Amino acid sequence: MNPTDRTLATRLIHHAYQPPEGFAAPQPAVHKASTVVFPNVAAMRAREWKDKSGYTYGLHGTPTTFILEERLAELEGGSQCLLVPSGLAAISTVSLGLLRAGDEVLLPDNAYGPNKALTESLLAQFGVRHAVYDPLDLADLAQRIGPATRLVWLEAPGSVTLEFPDLLGQVRLCQERGVLCALDNTWGAGLAFAPFDLLGDGSGSLAVDVSAHALTKYPSGGGDVLMGSIVTRNAGLHLKLKLAHMHLGLGVGANDAEGILRALPSIGLRYRAHDVSARTLARWLTSQPGIVQVLHPALEASPGHAHWQALCGQANAGEGAAAGLFSVVIDPVHPQERVDAFCDALALFKLGYSWGGPMSLVVPYDIATMRQQVPAHLAPGTVVRFSVGLEDVDDLRRDIAQALKVFA
Ligand SMILES: *Cc1c(COP(=O)(O)O)cnc(C)c1O
Repeated sequence: MNPTDRTLATRLIHHAYQPPEGFAAPQPAVHKASTVVFPNVAAMRAREWKDKSGYTYGLHGTPTTFILEERLAELEGGSQCLLVPSGLAAISTVSLGLLRAGDEVLLPDNAYGPNKALTESLLAQFGVRHAVYDPLDLADLAQRIGPATRLVWLEAPGSVTLEFPDLLGQVRLCQERGVLCALDNTWGAGLAFAPFDLLGDGSGSLAVDVSAHALTKYPSGGGDVLMGSIVTRNAGLHLKLKLAHMHLGLGVGANDAEGILRALPSIGLRYRAHDVSARTLARWLTSQPGIVQVLHPALEASPGHAHWQALCGQANAGEGAAAGLFSVVIDPVHPQERVDAFCDALALFKLGYSWGGPMSLVVPYDIATMRQQVPAHLAPGTVVRFSVGLEDVDDLRRDIAQALKVFA
């Protein structure tokens, strides 16, 4: 059929024009597709969806998502990467993909809350048992690893209370006992330490098996994208997770992938800026009224500081690397309402979950409801977590100072 015989509706879909090849620009193209078109049936039958040798269906990858996966594997020093719609989806895909009925999974008591909730609900429903270990007591983890233990979740530092564990010791223990370990690497973000080269000697002899990362935080940096990644450096493990990813029907939108690709080149600069401001405020807060404890792994008195120092202390010409998070414990003489009034009085720190974006955020937590055991290293009182954004640090300090007047 001659193309000119076709009606306009058809010509607008099956148009002959192709732009010249060779277009190049700093930002990768945004390819949007559910359907991927094959040149012929033989190609359709031959194409492999399990690797990056070609394209089969939008859910299995486009040039845009392939590029992002490769860059994220680079960020964390792994070999393969899967993209999922949120950080929590990265966690759930790892647990659902690696665990089966009769297995046991171990979580640190300070694990990201929704990881614990998933374990207690869906995983339990599917016959997976779990136990919680003390993140600061290697002997406790050693003693809990049993014959049914298949996976150990690690987090460095812990969510909200920011205790830094002996990550090297934990990974070594998992290796010795032949148990898989998965790190929630959202805090480290591939910048504070190398999860697949924990000894930092390039050998990769001490490495986590899986790194799950909430790209929602620093890789996005905008507070406007939800996404997660699962990075591995073992092809068999990657395939296992890729199959789970496929069976669960997980995929990410091209515009969201574009958002991460656009922000990724500046992640190192942003992470450092968040870190410098957070440490400035955290140190200053150690001597402010109403504050009985400041939790930030780079502060000497913070739980697990020596482990942070050992793993992250070399970066930035010996200053070390840390994210833009810290928590404070408010003196228990102040009732919850006064702590709430302090949070409400902050003008630049907005009330909101998540972190890693330009805007500073604050959240009060009730630790007693979040832990099996409230650890002895935490001073009694209400925990308030700060996520330091990219505002001017003196403006942030003045904002906290005026809000602290509620404790005077
Ligand atoms: C935010 C966060 C997640 C989950 O990321 P979402 O994209 O919000 O689902 C997982 N782990 C940690 C440590 C986080 O801070």
